[in-house]
Amino acid sequence: MVMVFNTVKFISPKPFRIRLRVLMMTESKVHVIDINTLVKILNNILEVMKANEKYLTKLDADIGDADHGINMVRGFQKVIELVSKENPAKLDAGRALQLTGMGLLQVVGGAAGPLYGMMFLEASKKVQGKKEITVKDFAALLEAGLKAVKMVGGGTVVGEKTMVDVLEPVTARIKEIISKKDNIDFMELLGEIVPFARECVLNTIPLQARKGRASYLGERSKNHQDPGATSTYLIIRTFYDTLKGGRGVRISEYDQETGRLLKEEPI
Ligand code: ADP
Ligand code: MG
Repeated sequence: MVMVFNTVKFISPKPFRIRLRVLMMTESKVHVIDINTLVKILNNILEVMKANEKYLTKLDADIGDADHGINMVRGFQKVIELVSKENPAKLDAGRALQLTGMGLLQVVGGAAGPLYGMMFLEASKKVQGKKEITVKDFAALLEAGLKAVKMVGGGTVVGEKTMVDVLEPVTARIKEIISKKDNIDFMELLGEIVPFARECVLNTIPLQARKGRASYLGERSKNHQDPGATSTYLIIRTFYDTLKGGRGVRISEYDQETGRLLKEEPI
């Protein structure tokens, strides 16, 4: 039986084989993120931050101090350094997320370092000692991460033009989806979440900033896309892009005035 299958595979024409592989890839479900995939995701987040460094910095130049892109690249460079130095035998999902938090806290100054740093540190506790992340773990770690961001941010709530404007609705939506569909996999879940997170980023444009540096601008912070909300979207999106076999995206077109993201292309 196996031999017959192998023979068929061997002699089958190439286009058929490619089509079969594409079919298999689009149909395959992903129920867990294992440690190798998680490390790949972290590496891809660094690549995505590099590819969007100028864009994120432009967004921050408009309503902040023009360092968000630089901060994110520097932070994830440190994360990858820490993760790659770690003894592979000790590296599980919890440890990888813990090192992510530590790396960001160590080298990123300003708001984003403590915010993202504590987000990953608190999230890591939800998968301590675990080799893989399930969909339910993912919801739990997002919830813990969101709680940390809100606390570190000084009681940040939705509508204040920050990363919470993406994190909170995304976390709520994930919980809602999981409660309706118990056995949902990452591909279906993130397939729905990524466009939703994108909408959440765009929704920050008309808002007036009430937290962080941008809040000093008052009314003038309106009509600009929030940099932190944008990097949060890119992080979530990179989970999905990596699971799909890609690396992530670069914002290739945006509105000069508002920074509104218009077009993304794979990196
Ligand atoms: P800094 O503002 O110190 O220069 P960054 O430019 O790296 O730090 O990050 C700015 C982003 O941090 C903002 O776009 C916003 O999304 C997020 N942020 C700032 N303050 C807060 C806060 N109090 N709560 C939640 N997020 C915040
Ligand atoms: Mg800044």
